[in-house]
Amino acid sequence: MKQDFCEYCNAELVNSEKLVTVYRHRKAQHFIFEGVPARVCPRCGERYFSAQVVREMDDLMKHPQAPVALVQVPVMALHR
Ligand SMILES: [Zn+2]
Repeated sequence: MKQDFCEYCNAELVNSEKLVTVYRHRKAQHFIFEGVPARVCPRCGERYFSAQVVREMDDLMKHPQAPVALVQVPVMALHR
């Protein structure tokens, strides 16, 4: 892993990964990925994923497998 400083706040990134939950979408489809390994910035919380992990998520969105769960998501609008 070569990215050693957060590109947003410049804090030093630790070399260990946490498992995080990631929301992504492709075209009109929404996906939540659980147990995704990421380096998390200790200052601002920005998450960094390896190229391999990003590719795995991309592949799963292109060729979705049976999901482990389905959730309903409320869609909200601000009225102003
Ligand atoms: Zn940061």
